[in-house]
Amino acid sequence: MHLVFLGPPACGKGTQSAILVQKYDYYHLSTGDLLRQEIATGSELGQALKQTIEQGVLGSSEIVNQLLKKDIENHRQMSILFDGYPRKMDQAIFLDSVLKENKGALKRVFYFDINADELLQRVLNRVTCNACGAVYNLQTNPPKEDGVCDNCGGRDLVRRGDDTEEVLKSRIQSFYEETAPLKDFYQERGILTVVNARASLDEVTKQIINVL
Ligand code: AMP
Repeated sequence: MHLVFLGPPACGKGTQSAILVQKYDYYHLSTGDLLRQEIATGSELGQALKQTIEQGVLGSSEIVNQLLKKDIENHRQMSILFDGYPRKMDQAIFLDSVLKENKGALKRVFYFDINADELLQRVLNRVTCNACGAVYNLQTNPPKEDGVCDNCGGRDLVRRGDDTEEVLKSRIQSFYEETAPLKDFYQERGILTVVNARASLDEVTKQIINVL
């Protein structure tokens, strides 16, 4: 059934999601992507969300939950890989209730364990394809051809507006204050796997696949 990737910004959740989605038939549901899509529409809601994301703080659960519920209902038949959701206890509880309504359940939650110094290096080297959202690290996982997306051939690889040192500090702080406590919540339920996210990309994938 469904999986959750929990971890601080730039821990590799997005990259591992892309690998898993290619290998297996998961629907990748990233709430960060849902919010960025809303921003791209230029709506009033999108403008408010843009400010929130640029400050590195969490968006309102009410808005995120609404977007999430709609997306889950649109992919009812699929196993879903949740990336960046839940990020707070109230979201974890909301997720349980929506999954129950849709006759689903969480199979496993992966906690990406990594220290803050490493995250900064990753964030400063991270670029994303503007066309398809593929994520690269210019040092450890660069595109095969400089400036060209391996996945879709797009030539618009950009740094995210919230990938700066200052915003990262705020995002890491919200992670430890609001999201990290979810680790115990899922541990007590017996569905948590801690992944060593400092390992190489392939090794992290192996750690995940081993327990699927
Ligand atoms: P991400 O792409 O997952 O790093 O998310 C980028 C930003 O979107 C975060 O720093 C938050 O501001 C916002 N965001 C993404 N997911 C959530 C969520 N589940 N709850 C609240 N805010 C979120």
